Amino acid sequence: MIQLNKVSKYYPAGFGKVYVLRHIDLHIKEGEFISIMGPSGSGKSTLLHILGLLEEASEGEYLFLDEPVQKLSEKKRTELHRNHIGFVFQAYHLIDELTVYENIETPLLYKGVSSSERKSRVAELLDRFNMVAKKDLFPSQLSGGQQQLVGVARAIVHNPKVIYADEPTGNLHSEQAVEIMELFKKLNQEDGVTIVQVTHSEQNATYGDRVVRLKDGWLA
Ligand code: ADP
Ligand code: MG
Repeated sequence: MIQLNKVSKYYPAGFGKVYVLRHIDLHIKEGEFISIMGPSGSGKSTLLHILGLLEEASEGEYLFLDEPVQKLSEKKRTELHRNHIGFVFQAYHLIDELTVYENIETPLLYKGVSSSERKSRVAELLDRFNMVAKKDLFPSQLSGGQQQLVGVARAIVHNPKVIYADEPTGNLHSEQAVEIMELFKKLNQEDGVTIVQVTHSEQNATYGDRVVRLKDGWLA
């Protein structure tokens, strides 16, 4: 379902370039639950952004759902992202001008889901995350943990095939963290959703099938 073949990513620096990912070979099957671990600065977020079609690889090949990502038009990549991917950003990335409700609803609008279905789906997640009373607040009126929960709700609301989550519990207290991990486990085991999480937590990693370790941009 997901295949990276010799993928590298570099940024221009002066007259040369700085590599942040090197020759990454990674194959993920449908229904797997993977944890990416590694020290700060090792390239975890960059790798997740490439997998989530948010950044492009500099070298190598990426196949997502059998589609050669680099050869696709921008439009087709956006479509693949909107239809099949849920992304939890490390820094939440909520839309400041939209309420909690509207932030969670956004992926459903992009996917063209009917208004009645949007209503029931968003209501279900607000209820699940105990955020009903906060639905009309803006992100700036929430704590970091609450923003993170909204970010997770937004990532799963449209029933994506794959969830990419960048330290999804980094700002949650341990009970909330367990709740999110249990939710991911349920989505994975009952609905067959493929999950790739970046985590620093050995506890979170126990929920996955295998751990992929990055060090200085290399797979360990
Ligand atoms: P991690 O998530 O493991 O902490 P990142 O993927 O965020 O690591 O970053 C890996 C390396 O890439 C870091 O050294 C970071 O400074 C560098 N980097 C990330 N984004 C850019 C960018 N836009 N331009 C230049 N360097 C970048
Ligand atoms: Mg990171």
